[in-house]
Amino acid sequence: MATAAIVERSGKVVIRRVGLMLSGDIDRPILDADTIVIDDGVITAVGREKDCDTGDAKCVIDCQGTAVAPGLIDSHTHPVFGDWTPRQNQLGWIESCMHGGVTTMISAGEVHLPGRPKDIIGVKALAITAQRAFDGMRAAGVGGGVRVLAGAPVIEKGMVEQDFIDLAAAGVRLLGEIGLGSVKAGDEAAQMVGWARRHGIQSTIHTGGPSIPGSGLIDEHVVLEADADVIGHVNGGHTSLSYKSVCTLCEKSSRALEIVHNGNERIAILTARHAMELKCPHRVILGTDAPAGSGVQPLGMLRLIALIASMADIPAEIVFGFATGNISRMRALPQGLIEVGRPADFVFMDKAQHSAGTDLLDSMRLGDIPGVGMVMIDGIVRCQRSRNTPPAVEVPVIAH
Ligand SMILES: [Zn+2]
Repeated sequence: MATAAIVERSGKVVIRRVGLMLSGDIDRPILDADTIVIDDGVITAVGREKDCDTGDAKCVIDCQGTAVAPGLIDSHTHPVFGDWTPRQNQLGWIESCMHGGVTTMISAGEVHLPGRPKDIIGVKALAITAQRAFDGMRAAGVGGGVRVLAGAPVIEKGMVEQDFIDLAAAGVRLLGEIGLGSVKAGDEAAQMVGWARRHGIQSTIHTGGPSIPGSGLIDEHVVLEADADVIGHVNGGHTSLSYKSVCTLCEKSSRALEIVHNGNERIAILTARHAMELKCPHRVILGTDAPAGSGVQPLGMLRLIALIASMADIPAEIVFGFATGNISRMRALPQGLIEVGRPADFVFMDKAQHSAGTDLLDSMRLGDIPGVGMVMIDGIVRCQRSRNTPPAVEVPVIAH
């Protein structure tokens, strides 16, 4: 499979004077470290500055005591082509989300493409084209450098195992939301999910009421029978199943529980709490389901993290893990954790100016979103003080 080359390479980068290092790993959310060393976009050391080889760096970032977390991964998006969405006819939405700390987006289907093909050859052709186009978009300098993992076909009646073999061989790794195409029955979906899984393609299912006129209800019985890898927007997109039905999904399935910004906020909070009570917080992953009827939300991931941290009473450092390390593990991605060997994708934050909180984590406990001071992807600075968040108290500076 052809992979577009990333033209720009970071060389050696040193990030120093980190005040708070969030690992992305909910089992060890805060690292005893103030320094990260990067070589050509990959983390080579994490620790105390005196223990790291920081010499001869091409670029040194002085964090001035601000926090660093893995770049946020939006588990549920609907890109179409380039940095344009026809859903709200908006340009530049991906780059705008990067200013909200997002460094990776995962497509749940390119379903908003006007005239989207629904015949099987057309479905396959679109998925392969989208996979290629988004893979090449970063090298083309579009979308702020965000990694967009796309090419997620929406399964249709009549597909056979050979179609999944063809898609996998062409580099397709995701299915779009099951239920948005003609396959809506649990048994039919289960067969195709099995084929997809056998050939290394991950699946997601729409959960809840119809999203727009023309789509339909997917209830807990269908979700359990289909057994997709990700229970997509378990809190509805927009309309949720009852809390009792969502509890059934939490208790009877072991698959990822995806909570989205564009869903039911009450159920988002209750689901996160229930997952903690059931001692399965590793299954909780976050996304936006944007673009949607309620628009594009560049700060959707940060808003969702602040909502869950403050209203579900889960420490913010754990909720950051729902949006990073949990997604890394549930979706087998290299990014999402601050660890040697992982991609150098980071969001640098501090509490927003005039937040009532004492520091970043406390401000989020009180429901405030943070200020983003810098975003890095592949070890390359993609933006400094965010144009979208409230201003951070302190921001990192590029020392040289
Ligand atoms: Zn959906």
